[in-house]
Amino acid sequence: MAARDAENDALDEARDAGGAEEADRDLAVLVPTAVVALIDRLVGAGHAAYVVGGSLRDALLGREAADWDLATDARPEEIVALFPGSVYENRFGTVAVRLEDDVYEVTTFRTEHDYADLRRPHRVEFGEEIEADLARRDFTVNAMAWGRAPGDEANELVDPHGGRDDLGARTLHAVGEPDVRFQEDALRMVRAVRLAATLGFDIEPATLAAITASASLAGHLSGERIGAELGKLLAAPRPSVGLALAQRTGLLAIISPELAAQRGIPQNKVPGEDLWDHTLRTVDATPAERPVVRLAALVHDIGKPSTLADGHFPHHEVVGAEIADALLRRLHFPREVAEQVVRLVRHHMFAADPDATDAAVRRFVKRIGPDLLDAQFALRRADDLGSGMDPDDPGVRSFAERAQRELRAAHPLDRGDLAVDGNDLMAELGLTPGPGLGRLIDELLERVIVDPSLNERGSLLRLAQGILSGVDRGAVGPS
Ligand code: ATP
Ligand code: MG
Repeated sequence: MAARDAENDALDEARDAGGAEEADRDLAVLVPTAVVALIDRLVGAGHAAYVVGGSLRDALLGREAADWDLATDARPEEIVALFPGSVYENRFGTVAVRLEDDVYEVTTFRTEHDYADLRRPHRVEFGEEIEADLARRDFTVNAMAWGRAPGDEANELVDPHGGRDDLGARTLHAVGEPDVRFQEDALRMVRAVRLAATLGFDIEPATLAAITASASLAGHLSGERIGAELGKLLAAPRPSVGLALAQRTGLLAIISPELAAQRGIPQNKVPGEDLWDHTLRTVDATPAERPVVRLAALVHDIGKPSTLADGHFPHHEVVGAEIADALLRRLHFPREVAEQVVRLVRHHMFAADPDATDAAVRRFVKRIGPDLLDAQFALRRADDLGSGMDPDDPGVRSFAERAQRELRAAHPLDRGDLAVDGNDLMAELGLTPGPGLGRLIDELLERVIVDPSLNERGSLLRLAQGILSGVDRGAVGPS
């Protein structure tokens, strides 16, 4: 019995060793030569140097690493001296090294202490050892390094926390005691649900339980840090994986009580599902490469919980646009992104009326905004999919085609598109600046939207004269 165990252990060890060697060989191929050269330069100058963090994790997963981060025992000024033209970004404690056209972030080993405010370590110290630098990282799969110290024969994997095994098991596992680590920095909980979605990993039970226990600490985080993680979460193949985890652990209620309130709100869409389920389905149904549409999908029904009355949600798109605006500001989404999302939410209930006149279709294009027309229909498609409905409804499709046709025809939709402007009207008709002039221009635009062929200087001036001489006095005269 004991002999068999020993034999098995020996076999396992052999297999493990083989695996490790294989991984090292693979990494020598997976890590770009420019990065290996960077390590060689640092080691040649007497420093330890390693590839670390997300890039190494992604390389081992066979995913294309976005950016290669390096860690070293060289101090920032030593790194700068080694790589002329590099820049010390003091705020991040990182040196940006430019080689050819790529920039690599090289960071001195760190150890962190005293997370008094649950956000950022009070004190960051430069360290001497890669092991200490790895110990401060969040999850085991993010706490591996590949490289060497001077005197080491070859670059190899440094994996003190079992990251490679967790990578194989597709599991997120906090480094150290999960409760302690989340109390140090509550963002790690948000990162956990984000990484679960982007990597398609599970969160192991103790780590998950710690998130549930400590979720309220996320209330101390800045909106900016949460927003950055939410943005990455939404770029995942299926954001619902992370969003559902955020909801179940209680993080969502802290990050966005407005969204968390969707749980339990009835919807007669997919049988047995509630409004939150509908939101998750809708988000997943949007294309990953359209972040604005995805974000709009997440918040499109955010006005429903507070407008629910008699099984209906009157004006939820109006209320929802306001709530979405406040949320996106709080989370520091870029202004133009927030503006577009809010507009998409505001108009997401549009009716695809088969009897709409051409003028009505043009007014629709104007209301949505030519820049968002396609996005608005993409959101509708996802909303229909998220409602268990046919996303290729012929009515919506033909309305979309008509709208696209009007858009391509480039008919005038704005004051600036008119063949006359305020100066022309003042010069030709002796008008003075003021609200009356503005109303006249709006009236002309309205006529041109109905009949684009009127958009010609002579016609517009005659039309303006007609309007002024009384036919439509009420619409433009002083009020
Ligand atoms: P991505 O691929 O999306 O960039 P990432 O894991 O690389 O994911 P980054 O924000 O680039 O995320 O962080 C780089 C590395 O820094 C992580 O892999 C992890 O080792 C470490 N790290 C980042 N944030 C934290 C944190 N809040 N606490 C501890 N370690 C962190
Ligand atoms: Mg990264």
